Amino acid sequence: MLTNYHHDPILAVYYYPKPQWGIPQLKSDLDAFAASGLKQVWLFFDPFYDVADMAGLKALLDHAASVSLGIVPALGQFLQLHEHPEVKIVNADGTTSDDPRYWNMGCFRQPKLFELASGRSVGFFRDFGEHPALYHIEGKPLMNFVHEAYYRNNVPEFGSGPMHPNCYCPHCLEAFRDYLAAHNLDPETPAPKTNADPVLWQHWIDCHAEAIPEFLRRLIAVTNLQMPVWATHECNDFYPASWQSVHTGNDWWRMGAVLDFGHEDMYPLEFDTRYQCYVYDYTKDIMRSATGFNKLVTCNGQAFNSWLGYKLPENSMMEQIYSALSHGALGLVWWTELPGLDSHTDYTEIRPDRLTSPRYKMISQTEKANQRYVELVSKLQDYQLTQAKVALLYSWTTMSQELADDHTYDTLLTYMALVQNGYPIDVLSEEHVAAGLLQQRGYQALLVMGVAAVPMATQTAITEFLDAGGLVIADYAPTLNADFVPLFGQWRGQAESKPRVYTLPNDTPIPVQLAAAPLNPPLHAEVLASFEDGTPAICRIQQGQGTLVLGGSYFGWDYTNYPGYYDLAAMFPFHTRRDEILRRFLADLLKSAGIFPPAESSHPDVEVGVWHTSPKDAYVLLVTNHLQETVRTTVRLMVGIGHWTIQTPDVQWHQDGHEVVVELELTRLDGTAIEVIKA
Ligand SMILES: [Zn+2]
Repeated sequence: MLTNYHHDPILAVYYYPKPQWGIPQLKSDLDAFAASGLKQVWLFFDPFYDVADMAGLKALLDHAASVSLGIVPALGQFLQLHEHPEVKIVNADGTTSDDPRYWNMGCFRQPKLFELASGRSVGFFRDFGEHPALYHIEGKPLMNFVHEAYYRNNVPEFGSGPMHPNCYCPHCLEAFRDYLAAHNLDPETPAPKTNADPVLWQHWIDCHAEAIPEFLRRLIAVTNLQMPVWATHECNDFYPASWQSVHTGNDWWRMGAVLDFGHEDMYPLEFDTRYQCYVYDYTKDIMRSATGFNKLVTCNGQAFNSWLGYKLPENSMMEQIYSALSHGALGLVWWTELPGLDSHTDYTEIRPDRLTSPRYKMISQTEKANQRYVELVSKLQDYQLTQAKVALLYSWTTMSQELADDHTYDTLLTYMALVQNGYPIDVLSEEHVAAGLLQQRGYQALLVMGVAAVPMATQTAITEFLDAGGLVIADYAPTLNADFVPLFGQWRGQAESKPRVYTLPNDTPIPVQLAAAPLNPPLHAEVLASFEDGTPAICRIQQGQGTLVLGGSYFGWDYTNYPGYYDLAAMFPFHTRRDEILRRFLADLLKSAGIFPPAESSHPDVEVGVWHTSPKDAYVLLVTNHLQETVRTTVRLMVGIGHWTIQTPDVQWHQDGHEVVVELELTRLDGTAIEVIKA
């Protein structure tokens, strides 16, 4: 880990000032940020360069230094589509993507984009690289290279249709020719407009996914020639949880590979009317994975009300900091509400009161969370996040071939069930698995949910993991085409009729929510559950030294329909469906293979993140109440032999053999940290 980082961590606010606000306003804003306990400002500096107001930018930086606020420059919208229409994304049907809102900056292979972006990033360090306000880690400044880079040709978050195939501009077509040549394929093969040829389509999607990482790599490299910097990039919010990332060009693993630090933009309450805190957790675990599990990972925090008009619940900021730390994010950047955040959005038309609300109402509410966050990051200096024994496979190939969210949501909703069962989870890419990470990082179980298409090398590595003694849990996966086949297809049957329900070993019926097909397992398989017509629904199959649990329905979809909580659930219970018996069945599958969570909370909506020293003679438990009501829970932490004690005052606890048992009551969305040490 980085030297001294824990005592000067990233705890910042995004700031998108406009020069015309005037210097007194800028100073007043910075004073408010400092008074809220923030340590840095992630500054969108483009507006000053847009109007060549270097004196205004210098005054801002000078004042930041005078109030001890570090500055992290952030490249924002350095290009306007109406000024450079030649950079527009070209869609499969030949139309262009013309809506300038939501950070649509055109195609990342357009030379003009690189010219303008690099001009800004190099220019900033040329002009201000020695300014004392810049935040440094180990002597190097940090830069956020582009806020949300994506190929944007629709706005599904705001009600329009899904993303569609792009980009067919001359630069992308040329890149595809180079890609084909590099893969020993005919470079004259036309770029596919549809997925009619699955193999060619996969090449096209894979090539598309290289555009943004390559843009970032070059941009970072040219900036480093001006001044060596730490490079991060704000990976944009929901897209890892959506198949549409194959069209937005956002493969976080390819992007993470070119960054020094990972950073992401998910919020618990943004594009939906209600909380989605498990997506907030999930993106952090994906970011850790995408940056190779050994880099600093930071995240955004939500200090604004939903764009759709819904209010951030009371105490949400506490829930966010505990959730972030429980999933390894040791830096946090609040996005907040200031009038005129972004001149290219029409958010104010959605919520006119934004302009009249008191300017610092939201950011000033972060003060308590900021103080707690700084204390906790400092405390965690000698601790590490508990290594996950359970991995989930994120299948880019399934997303590309399926063009639907059956796999992605099955994975996310299963992730939620596992987190509620107390398991830390690593989300692995297909490349990770193919490269042998399952063995290298010592996982004991791999879950492959709705995985209908994977590269051959990944498939081989999964079989090897199984043969070597691993537990693999796989569920329903459809046959999409003849070129990509689902995992364990030899034991999957045809759905002659559509199964509607299966019965678990404890006689509990579980309704099929999305799709299912009976299994056709080998003779030695143990049938754990059957569909209503008696055909096998879940089987345990011994293979080599390992065990495969194969399901004929989507476990994640069957478990729940929502990765979070509805605060109006008491009034509208039909909003969320959860099958607690299926969740416990999943936990029992892991436990029967000897895989136990490091800590368990008796209340599934109270999460426990476990950090420990090495060797394990001290723990920090980060306990988060995800519900908007006061709850009681019993937390059981597995500890080694000997006598243990709790350092945190006023906590009711006892030791029960190899477990430390803590009784807790937490108010709505609150968290607490418990220190457990060997006596
Ligand atoms: Zn293009």
